[in-house]
Amino acid sequence: MNSIELAGIGMTSQRTRERLIQRLIDQGISSQPVLDVIRMTPRHIFLDEALSHRAYEDTALPIGFSQTLSQPYIVARMTEILLSGGRLKNVLEIGTGSGYQTTILSQLVEQVSTVERIEPLLRKAKERFRKLGLKNITAELSDGSFGWDKHAPYDGIITTAAPQTVPEELFRQMAPGGILVIPVGNGVSQDLRVLRRVSDSAEFDEEIVEKVKFVPLLGGLSR
Ligand code: SAM
Repeated sequence: MNSIELAGIGMTSQRTRERLIQRLIDQGISSQPVLDVIRMTPRHIFLDEALSHRAYEDTALPIGFSQTLSQPYIVARMTEILLSGGRLKNVLEIGTGSGYQTTILSQLVEQVSTVERIEPLLRKAKERFRKLGLKNITAELSDGSFGWDKHAPYDGIITTAAPQTVPEELFRQMAPGGILVIPVGNGVSQDLRVLRRVSDSAEFDEEIVEKVKFVPLLGGLSR
């Protein structure tokens, strides 16, 4: 049994978690690896204690600094789309937040790089990665509007905060055949967009998947 499963024991009954998994299936999530990883990952440790009893509801929950831990359905949907072309080696996440989405990704891809602009959130997330024994995550305080050049090119990029338009740097940091999953729009609602870089060219195929509601992608750092 690995450390993620160990950390998941206690706190919530298996039945509560199974209810969440069933809800995700009912909403159309069909990737077994994604469902398995969500089932195994203790979402309650990504929340303050006062909210941890709500961890297995299919809802976004506050994590402080006016930010949220994304709804499980959205985490599942974005992860399923990201992995739809097969196993990924090198993924960038923009908006670490609590570290929950990062933790899900780290169990499904080889290497995850993640950036967060709010220092106290990043600090807590890193502490969780350490406690869970996750060794394939590199996290940094940085403005993800510029992607993260250091580990590019990425075969997958996922953004958990919404810009008004797709930042140019993200196109440049994608590997040939790479996939970008990103909410784009204003503060009221956004389109979840999926862009695939056409093999070795500078062209991208684009698809709008559904309407979503994310916090905005903001510039600069907050310490
Ligand atoms: N993936 C997160 C989770 O599982 O908890 C979701 C976090 S929340 C929906 C989005 C996060 O994006 C927030 O923590 C916010 O501070 C961060 N964010 C917003 N703009 C950013 C930027 N320019 N660079 C990096 N992070 C940013």
